[in-house]
Amino acid sequence: VSLTTTSVIDYFRQRRRKREELTFEPRPIELRSDEVVDGVVGNTPLVRIKSLSEALGVEILGKAEFMNPGGSVKDRVALRMIEDAEERGLLHPYTGSRIFEGTVGSTGISIATIARAKGYEATIIMPDDVAEEKVNALLALGAQVERVRPASIVDKKQFVNLARERAKNFGSEPDPAHPYDKHRGHLIPTASSSVIVTTTADEALADNALMSPKEEREFALKPRGFFADQFENRSNYYAHYDGTGPEIWRQTSGWIDAFVSGAGTGGTIAGTGQYLKTKKQDIIVALADPEGSGLYNKVKYGVMFDKKEAEGTKRRHQVDTVVEGIGINRLTHNFELALPIIDDAFRVTDAEAVAMSRYLVQHDGLFLGSSSACNLVTCIKLVKKMGWSSGERVVTILCDSGTRHYSKFWNDDYLAKANIPVDMGIIDRLLAEP
Ligand code: PMP
Repeated sequence: VSLTTTSVIDYFRQRRRKREELTFEPRPIELRSDEVVDGVVGNTPLVRIKSLSEALGVEILGKAEFMNPGGSVKDRVALRMIEDAEERGLLHPYTGSRIFEGTVGSTGISIATIARAKGYEATIIMPDDVAEEKVNALLALGAQVERVRPASIVDKKQFVNLARERAKNFGSEPDPAHPYDKHRGHLIPTASSSVIVTTTADEALADNALMSPKEEREFALKPRGFFADQFENRSNYYAHYDGTGPEIWRQTSGWIDAFVSGAGTGGTIAGTGQYLKTKKQDIIVALADPEGSGLYNKVKYGVMFDKKEAEGTKRRHQVDTVVEGIGINRLTHNFELALPIIDDAFRVTDAEAVAMSRYLVQHDGLFLGSSSACNLVTCIKLVKKMGWSSGERVVTILCDSGTRHYSKFWNDDYLAKANIPVDMGIIDRLLAEP
């Protein structure tokens, strides 16, 4: 890591030059759009956050995931979920396959981006109170968007449940005897909760092995729906275990003391954290958790906020947080994978996250989204708690850019109405704590 935030623009220039050389030398004309997408997802730079590193005497490094073509860390997950599904015969390009997902934003944008490049259609279902710019981006990307009234996870009309249902009913009538259709939106109980999920891709793979060549041919011609299911789909975890984790390990040459991440689905912290721990057992993995999320309590005390919230009957939007993408009140499969490897958890208030985002623009020229800001606040809290000040290294994720958050997190009028102060002094005070 030789980067400082001030040299980041130079770095991007160099990287673009390098990418042009790489892209155009070997196959100048044959490069297809789907290959371009594959080629530019991931391998993001690791940026040294100069202001925080100098104030703390500890290296704070951020993985610049906002540089992915779809604008967030979720490109990795969307690509991996789609490619794993293709490999397992659950999706075929150019036969009218449609990808369905229930998401509050970033994953939808990544799925829509990669779907178009690979010849699929996408339907994204989301609650109707999500920041407007995400809906506009999805529509611009040609995705079908369905907005539903916020509802609890046990409700059939909840956005994730509805995405599963739409995938199941898409295209021709399901044939229960067919190996594929057996899995189309098939519902099974999970060990962790009463939430029902689509059969895992692993099981589908086992059954696909039973398809005859004739069945496969017929099957390939049927239009079908695929429920991406980022919360329960293990491809999400593997995107980070095989991608983000190894990249960080290489970029730090193994010199890393802690990894900090928030969790929405849990895929990032589970996959990246697990990989890093296989390389170096004593790396500290810390969770950044926004207000209103039950994950902090789950890590610290083994339970979510209270029974009502754990069942998802109270949505986190109702607890007035402006942080989007991280924090949740139910246990997902991907977060379950993270639980054994999380060493510590930190709560971050909206005011702290807002303050951090403004602080980074002011000091580093970094314009980041709300979950990145939460992560960086947590980096400070972890460093203070550990008593570090002699060049230790903490790596975190810069999930997306501020451009995704103009209408809420980056809107001072909205914040004023929500009684959230915009006060960079909060960060100075955090940094000044003993
Ligand atoms: N930041 C943003 C902006 C996100 O959209 C998400 C995913 N919902 C996350 C962070 C959290 O990542 P994960 O789902 O891997 O826990």
